[in-house]
Amino acid sequence: MPVKCGLCEKKAILKRPKTGDALCKDCFFWAFEEEVHKTIIDANLFSPGEVVAIGASGGKDSTVLAYTLKTLNERYDYKLDLILLSVDEGITGYRDDSLETVKRNQQQYELPLKIISYKELYGWTMDDIVKQVGLKNNCTFCGVFRRQALDRGAMLLKVDKIVTGHNADDIAETVIMNILRGDIARLKRCTAITTGADGALPRCKPFKYTYEKEIVMYAYFKKLDYFSTECIYSPNAYRGHARTYIKDLEAIRPSSIIDIIHSGECMAVKKEVKLPVQGTCSRCGYISSQEVCKACVLLEGLNKGLPKLGIGKPHKVKKLEAQGKIFTDTKNPKFVENRDADKGSMANNAAALDF
Ligand code: SF4
Ligand code: ZN
Repeated sequence: MPVKCGLCEKKAILKRPKTGDALCKDCFFWAFEEEVHKTIIDANLFSPGEVVAIGASGGKDSTVLAYTLKTLNERYDYKLDLILLSVDEGITGYRDDSLETVKRNQQQYELPLKIISYKELYGWTMDDIVKQVGLKNNCTFCGVFRRQALDRGAMLLKVDKIVTGHNADDIAETVIMNILRGDIARLKRCTAITTGADGALPRCKPFKYTYEKEIVMYAYFKKLDYFSTECIYSPNAYRGHARTYIKDLEAIRPSSIIDIIHSGECMAVKKEVKLPVQGTCSRCGYISSQEVCKACVLLEGLNKGLPKLGIGKPHKVKKLEAQGKIFTDTKNPKFVENRDADKGSMANNAAALDF
């Protein structure tokens, strides 16, 4: 006998990874969207009249985010102005193709689109950067530049907020990585649904509690147009291990992902641990928690033909500083951190600390 949907009388066609419920397609869509709506309302993510940029890569997470936010904005009359904001890193054979997907999404969802490129902002494409730095620290450059590029694009568009498609699996991975690195100070921030709320440009993660498997299911059953190829420069290292570990845990206990996020939220940060305070870079004027932002440090390294500046071990950075080869202070010499970038971008953070 066919299994019936747990919410209506129709035939169930899937088992929700998050709850194990058997559901029909329509009830799954409804449950998925309502959970995102509840997250938005509970965390008070938006106010009527806000202009919100959706960081759009053409991948499944940001495509489903754009579709869901548009749906909820209409269903619940959030009164948001939504804009797609894409970053072109200049990766031939990857980003050029995924941007074609974003351009189709723009037509399909009837949302404005702005594309901002590394080439126009920094004078370098990722293809150029990989030629110079190789495949070891490329994601450090890419992640730092992407983060700033999104900020710069959002400021150009005068938006009130940026939303990104980071999902529960991404956040659980970041929690595990911060624990493995002993970076407890960052735990609270990496689990926060909104960061930078006190600065000029808050960033929100409406998919904080949304499982990746359900995003894939939603995209599949809705027949959304998204790009699923991996970046050709993806190193698949450190984050990859955290990902495999969490997938193993999830197979035994599906709630592991949410449990890890809750643990990260609850872990106490010692009083004496100072969290970075958001200010602006004295060189480029964009958001930074250091006097000179990481993007400026990395860019100077590239332009001087010394691409390892800013990604080295603290004592080596100090030596270079003493030699006058770098200009930044080293209050926080681990320039490699980039908590919120794509999966690959954090993947080799550990490796990035080595010259
Ligand atoms: Fe950039 Fe992500 Fe590719 Fe690394 S994996 S080079 S961060 S797009
Ligand atoms: Zn700067």
